[in-house]
Amino acid sequence: MTNNYGPEYIRAIAPYQAGKPIAEVAREFGLDEASIIKLASNENPFGVPESARQAMAAAVAELGRYPDANGFDLKGALSNRYDVPADWITLGNGSNDILEIAAHALVERGQSIVYSQYSFAIYALAAQGVGAQHIVTPAKAYGHDLSAMLAAIRDDTRLVFIANPNNPTGTFIPAAEIEAFLAKVPSHVVVVLDEAYNEFLAQQDQFESAEWVKKYPNLLVSRTFSKAYGLAGLRVGFAIAQPALTDLLNRVRQPFNVNSLAQAAAIAALNDMDFLQKGAENNTAGYQQYVAAFDKLGLEYVPSYGNFVLVKVGDDAGAGARVNLSLLKQGVIVRPVGGYGLPEWLRVSIGLPEENEAFIEALTVALAE
Ligand SMILES: *Cc1c(COP(=O)(O)O)cnc(C)c1O
Repeated sequence: MTNNYGPEYIRAIAPYQAGKPIAEVAREFGLDEASIIKLASNENPFGVPESARQAMAAAVAELGRYPDANGFDLKGALSNRYDVPADWITLGNGSNDILEIAAHALVERGQSIVYSQYSFAIYALAAQGVGAQHIVTPAKAYGHDLSAMLAAIRDDTRLVFIANPNNPTGTFIPAAEIEAFLAKVPSHVVVVLDEAYNEFLAQQDQFESAEWVKKYPNLLVSRTFSKAYGLAGLRVGFAIAQPALTDLLNRVRQPFNVNSLAQAAAIAALNDMDFLQKGAENNTAGYQQYVAAFDKLGLEYVPSYGNFVLVKVGDDAGAGARVNLSLLKQGVIVRPVGGYGLPEWLRVSIGLPEENEAFIEALTVALAE
């Protein structure tokens, strides 16, 4: 399917590999959809919060009209929550949109973007999409090596992407280290701090990155409603940055990038503390369940701060694919990470206790094959 349309850097893009949808696995393996367990995309095992369903039902009547292009109510709610003015907030069609918008708004073709080995796949795609040069620093213990990232910054660097916690490895950088890094980053470089899993952090690891935004005009904090808030299918995320940066982002984004239902649902979910709490408790328990099982099976894993765990399922480069295929045949969908350069590993999301148990049983079978 090669052709000569478009710039070379677009033709060179390897498309994002999403987690397999349940319906696709059912078709491919002749399984009943209802029996399939999906732990592949770090989605919320409790699904959509009831509060968000109600808000959406009420918003349906207005769907004949365009959404509020400025997201007034949602930005107001976020402004309250994070104690920043509303004009410091940019809404995105998922935080994926925010990452792309940042690359488009801030990076010229040929300039460079710094990100880490084993960090979120979208950083490479966002860089490639604008024809940027990729500076990929080696990971340290499967996570970001901030000293290496700092040293890698060049005069032509415009953007640094940091995922904290990181996906797919689950690693975490403590607040003090991030702040020390921010203090040293040259002012011509914007740091995107992608905190898609922030809500899963234990109390003692939590910090308010929105406060750093007040101090650093070159910091952009990115958050999402896809994970802890259970709204992955709606696509809502947001950025917090000072007005000069926010203004640039808003020039690049599509005016109606967040739809009306998504805006209504996000406001409801943001205020649904019970739902967040329930999710956090389930996550802590599920993590313990996985760790106990991996220890018992003698499997190496990377300690995770997110709602998923990266586990090593064999020593050869075929291990991840082999175990993944066995899991699929047993109706369990997880995420192979060969594309990240981790072919011996699989990433599994934390689900409900019975889903986790089904995965552990299927994994035990797969490893014995
Ligand atoms: C899931 C994820 C996102 C974005 O998800 P959206 O659904 O686009 O908001 C961003 N960063 C990381 C590290 C993620 O894992």
